[in-house]
Formats: sequence, C-alpha cells, structure tokens
Amino acid sequence: MSVNNSLYCDPVLRYGDDAQRERFLKPVASGLAHGCFALTEPQAGSDATNQATLAVRDGDHYVLSGRKQFITSGREAAFALVFCQTDRAKAHRGITAFVVEQGAPGFVVAKVEDKLGIRASDTAELVFDECRVPAASRLGAEGQGFKIAMAALDGGRIGIAAQALGIAAGALERAVAYARERKSFGVPIGQHQMVQWMLADMATAIEGARLLTLRAAALKDAGRPYGTASAMAKLFAAETAMRVTTDAIQVHGGYGYIKEYEVERAFRDAKITQIYEGTSQIQKLVIAREVLGG
Ligand SMILES: Cc1cc2nc3c(=O)[nH]c(=O)nc-3n(C[C@H](O)[C@H](O)[C@H](O)COP(=O)(O)OP(=O)(O)OC[C@H]3O[C@@H](n4cnc5c(N)ncnc54)[C@H](O)[C@@H]3O)c2cc1C
Repeated sequence: MSVNNSLYCDPVLRYGDDAQRERFLKPVASGLAHGCFALTEPQAGSDATNQATLAVRDGDHYVLSGRKQFITSGREAAFALVFCQTDRAKAHRGITAFVVEQGAPGFVVAKVEDKLGIRASDTAELVFDECRVPAASRLGAEGQGFKIAMAALDGGRIGIAAQALGIAAGALERAVAYARERKSFGVPIGQHQMVQWMLADMATAIEGARLLTLRAAALKDAGRPYGTASAMAKLFAAETAMRVTTDAIQVHGGYGYIKEYEVERAFRDAKITQIYEGTSQIQKLVIAREVLGG
C-alpha cells in the first residue's frame, strides 16, 4: 500500500490534470484497482538518472521501449507510472513520466521474482516492447519525470520508515512475550541481564525510529521541506528493523530460527527496508548532502 499511495497516487494527484485524475486515480482511490511505480531498470537502481527506457513521440502517441526491474505490484497493478527518456542529450532532465495501463499492447509482465521476504507482495519485471501510449497519458511536462520521481520518493520513504517501524515493534512484542515465559537456569530468560539489555536496546531504537518517522510526517503535513527528514527516518527505521529482528531471533534462541515463530518472517521482511526506495547508503548520501550544505 505504501507504493500504491505514495509512489503512484500522490504523483498522479499532484501532477495529473483533471482527465488523468478521473481515469488513473479515481479507480485506485475508490479501491477498485491499484497502481505501481516503475523507475528501476536492470542498470539503473541507485543511479536512477541512468534510464535506458525510451519514449519516442509519434503523432499523438509515444512509443515506449525498454524494461523495468523489481516493480512492486507490477503484476497486479492496473496502472503503472513509468519513467522514460524522451531526450537522452538532457540526461536526467530528459526523463518523462507516463501512466501506462495494464493490458496495453506491448506492455508485458516478463517475470515475477521469487524473493527472501515480503512474499505477499509481487515484484515483477516489466517489458515495454514498442508500447504505444497516448500523449494524454504523459504525467507533467516532458523532462519533468525525474523531479516527479524524486518528490514521490521523499514521501514514500516515510511510508517505508513506518513499515520498518511496524516490523520492529511486532518483533519486540514477540521477544518480550517469549522472555516472560521461556525459562533457563530456573528463571524466565527476561530476568537475565543480557537479555534485558537486548530488549532495552530494541525498545530504545524503536522509539527513536518512531519519533523520526512522526517528525518527517509532521513536516510533510505542515507543507515544510521534509526530504532530509524522510531520509533520516527511513535510514534509522530500516537499520533498527534489521537489528531488532536479529535480536528478536536471538531472544528466541533456536526457536527463533524456525519458521513456526513469527520473528523469522519479521527478519526476512526487515531486510527490504534497507534496500528499496533508496538503499541505506543512498539515504546517507541524501543526508550528507544536506549536512554539507549542497
Ligand atoms: C522487493 C523489491 C521491490 C522493489 N520495488 C520497486 C518499485 O516498486 N519500483 C522501483 O522503481 N524499484 C523498486 N525496487 C528497486 C529498488 O529500489 C532498487 O533495488 C534499489 O534502489 C537499489 O538499486 P539496485 O538494486 O540496482 O542496486 P545498486 O544501485 O546496483 O546498488 C548495489 C549496492 O551498491 C550501493 N551503492 C550504489 N551506489 C552507491 C553510491 N553512490 N554510494 C554508496 N553506495 C552505493 C548500494 O547501496 C547497494 O548496496 C524494488 C526492489 C526490490 C528488491
């Protein structure tokens, strides 16, 4: 839902005209369909400026050719927000956004990935094989696509921070319950100081992640700049989710490693929060740029 709301609906709402909102947003806002966000390519992940998918104008259409990698809900979504090059010479200033409808001729879901975690959500490779898209489906002006994508990701990162926070909070809850009931050396393991330290560190990091996430969301709601705040929230919450889920397994001992116990799934789900919508390394680049003043 984070991708649907922040990376699809928000840009269509902000940059779409009335006809586009009616056609591409209304069915999604009313819960009848959902949308996906197709920026990543086989050779353009962290470096999203390196787009190879082309959109060539042909009368009142554009012809799209290229492939998009790792697209959340790529198989299920009725609409894809697709970023393409319309003017290679302008590099990232030549990137343009289009809404492409599932089933458009030349739009193929080429592969659905088998992955470590978040297995309830499909992750697909999309191919555009001379896919004709009406010019009326272009979102914003030619060359505005990179700005649209980056603005969407600023908001989306708050959603991923919240996702990471939820994963971490759930894992802590389970670790606490287990520490109360499991006994070793004649006492509940929660009475051993080293287990208490793990739980204290987990709870403290979660509160830090919660405050950073709420702060970024509050800045966004207030209409103030929030790009750095959302990068900080996403970075800290994702790192927290990974550390907390690792320790939640530790508190569970051998049982934590077994699928029957929910912390194993939390650990696998946490990992993606360090990767998508900008890896932790990319969040640090965003934050450092602000800290250094440019
Ligand atoms: C399950 C899943 C769902 C996804 N959903 C979507 C989606 O819906 N839409 C979409 O467009 N994309 C999606 N992605 C793609 C995701 O955003 C990218 O995988 C991510 O941005 C990293 O790009 P990459 O995989 O090409 O890694 P690369 O960019 O090749 O990076 C590899 C490693 O190098 C590091 N690195 C790269 N450049 C730098 C640098 N300048 N400084 C320091 N370190 C660097 C990275 O941090 C990483 O550790 C999804 C990915 C997955 C796995």
